[in-house]
Amino acid sequence: MTEGYIVEAYPSLEGEGVKLGSPALFFRLAGCNLRCAYCDTRKAWEEKPAEGMWSFTDNRRKLRNPVSQTTVEEWLRVWKQIYPTVVFTGGEPLLQAKFLCEVAHLAKGLGLTTRLETNATLAEAWETVWADIDQVSADIKIPSTSGSDFLLHEHRNFLERARGKLIHIKVVVGIETGTEELISAAELAAEVAPQIPLVIMPASVEDKPISIPNERIIEWLRALEMIPLEVRIIPQMHKLWSLP
Ligand code: SF4
Repeated sequence: MTEGYIVEAYPSLEGEGVKLGSPALFFRLAGCNLRCAYCDTRKAWEEKPAEGMWSFTDNRRKLRNPVSQTTVEEWLRVWKQIYPTVVFTGGEPLLQAKFLCEVAHLAKGLGLTTRLETNATLAEAWETVWADIDQVSADIKIPSTSGSDFLLHEHRNFLERARGKLIHIKVVVGIETGTEELISAAELAAEVAPQIPLVIMPASVEDKPISIPNERIIEWLRALEMIPLEVRIIPQMHKLWSLP
């Protein structure tokens, strides 16, 4: 049995993307292979934190890492009646692929739906967990907000291998985001997940989603109108709801 490093675990509502508002149990796994400029979960960058946090409203307690599968199973059994989905988020959960694989298998065995939130760059690790993941919430990173190179090749490699799963794709944008990078991201989304709306998500600064001027939104929508894909612009609602 593998042990894992968890930054925090909490029941909450999905605050991003097309599953917005759906209740889920979140496990934020430690470590990330990227360093996005807009990252709001830098606390998850450390690969092996000695402690994490289990929280539910005012009931917060520390958890000691590494965490065993038995502990995770206890949490799942307590909450599974009202939180039917488990979300593995990060950081980048695929960095702990073996632990993720075993915990996702456990969750599936308890009748839960499993969703992986990923930066969609670790295709080989994905191959080891895909059987027990029902839904994939994937980011396509664009240079204007990530502050790094366009990872289109890595994203394509990953998303091609995730075909057959329910794939939700998000792109985090800022005021400076250009139409060319958005078009490239939307073309890839239209190839691998044509039935699911592409979510364009304004970045957050100091825990508040930035405001995007209407003329900028119109410019983006005009640029995307030739791509056969529904587009929705949705900020991070959990920040506005003051949820974790
Ligand atoms: S992939 Fe996610 S957790 Fe990692 S640096 Fe980017 S935003 Fe932060």
